[in-house]
Amino acid sequence: MDIRRLVRKDVQRLRAYNATEVPCRIKLDANESPYGFSAALRSAAGISTNRYPDPEATLLRGILARDLAARPENILQGNGSDELIYYLIATFGGPVLFPTPTFSMYGIISRALGEKPVGIPLDAKFDLDLKKILSAVRKERPKLIFLSSPNNPTGNCFSAEKMLKIIGSSTGIVVVDEAYQPFSSRKGFLPMLKDYRNLVIMRTLSKIGLAALRIGYLIADTEIIEEVNKVRLPFNVNALSQAVAVAALQKRGTLERSVRSVKTERSRMFSAMGKIKGVRPYPSEANFILFQVEDPVAVHASLLKKGILVRNIADVVPGCLRVTVGTRRENSSFIRALVTILSAKV
Ligand code: PMP
Repeated sequence: MDIRRLVRKDVQRLRAYNATEVPCRIKLDANESPYGFSAALRSAAGISTNRYPDPEATLLRGILARDLAARPENILQGNGSDELIYYLIATFGGPVLFPTPTFSMYGIISRALGEKPVGIPLDAKFDLDLKKILSAVRKERPKLIFLSSPNNPTGNCFSAEKMLKIIGSSTGIVVVDEAYQPFSSRKGFLPMLKDYRNLVIMRTLSKIGLAALRIGYLIADTEIIEEVNKVRLPFNVNALSQAVAVAALQKRGTLERSVRSVKTERSRMFSAMGKIKGVRPYPSEANFILFQVEDPVAVHASLLKKGILVRNIADVVPGCLRVTVGTRRENSSFIRALVTILSAKV
């Protein structure tokens, strides 16, 4: 029996998202935070494992709503924002438009669900190509547009003015993915929710020290939340994750301190990388830095030989690697290794 032939054509052609573990000493490849919340995990030990979790994640949504000055009815919880991307596409369908390069899951999930992905290349400054996007909006009439700002893997925020034009001219839903917003110097799009009913903001706890919990959330008009909630699996966020997230979010000071450290380290890394001959770092509003080298495959392999794992993204941004901001020690080791590798080459 040929199992593959039973699979939908779209899925046959898909390649799974590569999240294999590569053994390393210093892990700077996945845009996680180097700081965790062990105390929050201890305080979650009281959960009743024999009961299903709160399907509405009431406490968690309440805390998120309070922090965002929103109402819980405007918030929908996901098992990571990955799951919410899935739910959004399952709810509204395609075509699904997004600039490229960007976060790969918009394209992967569109294909998995049999919806048409429409990728529009960014301009030379990694900003949105407004003309091309608006013309694709007219031609394709996308049901969904995903704008990751700050964008992964380029690290920049898109021009707010261009984003507003896109939101204003779209006849579908526009999702502004603010996974990296905590690290950005820009304001973000939450205040725009009152002016645009087709706007959805997507956030995650993954980048601020809670990646293991798998918690993402949408903020949008209740009408959108109610529709997406119809496709949500009943107990999508487990009890342990809910409890740890609630405990961690109470520790505002710890959260803010870790974000501040990442931002300070980001500027230190950026200037150090800029001084290395043969390295071109791009300015970042996120917790990672995109950088160009002459031979990304060789540099990636040499770093790994020294135990340091970064992400090779040369297939989507030619000549580029992406390094996550780690602890001060990890970053110093990375910089030292990069200096050694590139000076050995000359
Ligand atoms: N959006 C963007 C732009 C991302 O880079 C990532 C993670 N790499 C996600 C969403 C997914 O985050 P989560 O861990 O919440 O699924």
